[in-house]
Amino acid sequence: MSTLVITDLHVSVDTEDGPKEILKGVTLTIGDGETHAIMGPNGSGKSTLAYSIAGHPRYNVTGGTVALDGEDVLAMSVDERARAGLFLAMQYPVEVPGVSVANFLRTAKTAMDGEAPKLRTWVKDVNAALENLNLDATFSQRSVNEGFSGGEKKRHEIAQLELLDPRIAVLDETDSGLDIDALKIVSEGVNRFRAKEGKGVLLITHYTRILRYIKPDHVHVFVNGRIAEQGGAELAEQLEAEGYDKYLKAGV
Ligand code: ADP
Ligand code: MG
Ligand code: MG
Repeated sequence: MSTLVITDLHVSVDTEDGPKEILKGVTLTIGDGETHAIMGPNGSGKSTLAYSIAGHPRYNVTGGTVALDGEDVLAMSVDERARAGLFLAMQYPVEVPGVSVANFLRTAKTAMDGEAPKLRTWVKDVNAALENLNLDATFSQRSVNEGFSGGEKKRHEIAQLELLDPRIAVLDETDSGLDIDALKIVSEGVNRFRAKEGKGVLLITHYTRILRYIKPDHVHVFVNGRIAEQGGAELAEQLEAEGYDKYLKAGV
């Protein structure tokens, strides 16, 4: 079982003019095995939600709760959240010069499981994951995200997802900057993950394009730090036709 329950979440960041509230009461449950899409215009707070779930220190939770199978996520450190099974693929993955993909993946896996993976099966698993994402074997010797193309960064995030095998995956604009072939490869990786027992996915996106390949169970429209509308996959199609204008005009 993996259920993530977000209740009335309020989040602020510190700015020069003092604290600024970005999330203004977000309530959302990702039930066992469900895929939810969060869609919304730029600046609506989608990444803030992702970082807040992952525990980024810059985001101050001023109200509300986040629980994973009843455990208080907000009381956990970033490492504890990862060990509990929360995974975040960032919109802008960071470079880690001097650390190879192979070492990075092994360190992350060790941190998550509390013990190092068995070397022989691990190397096989890594090579298979890279191959699935159309990344050749030399990719594992490159420094993490250094000089990676947009598509390589996103495919590397999905390789992490498949190898770390979390319970809940938060994917922040995993589709941005991908050409159609890379989008298909990345979507297939996400679909392999969600086909496993009890995996939850929170797929954050600005565009409806990726939702043609990854069919969400629920769609939430995010505007100005709140969920403005909810529906099924058909809501994404409606957004594709109508855009976000009506929500922005309504000033929600
Ligand atoms: P989205 O991912 O939907 O584009 P973000 O969560 O990145 O939106 O940002 C939401 C709003 O919060 C924006 O107005 C952005 O400028 C502001 N914001 C986000 N992070 C910070 C920060 N660290 N400092 C100041 N403002 C921030
Ligand atoms: Mg409130
Ligand atoms: Mg964002």
